[in-house]
Amino acid sequence: MDFMSITIGFLGLLIGSFLNVVIYRVPRGESIVSPGSHCTACGYALRPWQLIPVLSFIIQKGKCSNCQAIISWRYPAVELLTGILFFFTAAMSLYMEIHLARLALNLVFVSVLIALAFIDLDTFRLPDVLTLPLLGLGLLGAFLIPGNPTGWESVLSALGAGGLFLVIALVYPQGMGLGDVKLVAAMGAFLGFPSIFLAVFAGSFLGAFIGISLLLTDKKRFRQQIPFGPYLALGAILTLLWGNQIFDWYWAWVR
Ligand SMILES: [Zn+2]
Repeated sequence: MDFMSITIGFLGLLIGSFLNVVIYRVPRGESIVSPGSHCTACGYALRPWQLIPVLSFIIQKGKCSNCQAIISWRYPAVELLTGILFFFTAAMSLYMEIHLARLALNLVFVSVLIALAFIDLDTFRLPDVLTLPLLGLGLLGAFLIPGNPTGWESVLSALGAGGLFLVIALVYPQGMGLGDVKLVAAMGAFLGFPSIFLAVFAGSFLGAFIGISLLLTDKKRFRQQIPFGPYLALGAILTLLWGNQIFDWYWAWVR
């Protein structure tokens, strides 16, 4: 537990608070800057202390202090999740002695993945305003910042993974949208080869496992649409954080 990772973890709580705004407003086409944070039920503008992540939710007992409307537990959950993932991303990057600019890039990657996962859960959409800049940033970062993947590895894995998913989306449009194609291309740009394969495999496996579990527990019986984005995001984050360990374990096991 080092000081820098813990500091970045706390920064993650604040970023998580901002991601809640992104998750709510981007699908509605609203500005993410103005107006400031307010109760979605009564419009009450939040006081500065009410913007403190997680704590303000606990102090207010999960209710708006003005109209008593119940605030979803998902707000503090997204803040905590972002804080925890920021901590692990920083700890991994420092341990691997990754370039600090690449650490910053990975934190943006994790943030946008969290936003996309929850937007997809809510709306079955992965908005272009998030996936396309993410793809661009991943490619640019790989060229400009020393480390892995290198620029051309990043381009090739974005094209390879995105191309494969594009073929699937064209053959089986009910199962996969173009949003998934753009997300996978962005993941390829950030993760490189062969990590992108691990991310897609882990995401598909988790998606199938959770999908079947939900079917068995009757929660989503015969529901046609299951978002793929959250599972892809989960696979990407697992690969970013523990990909090397998973590969080491796999090769040791195969031999
Ligand atoms: Zn209110």
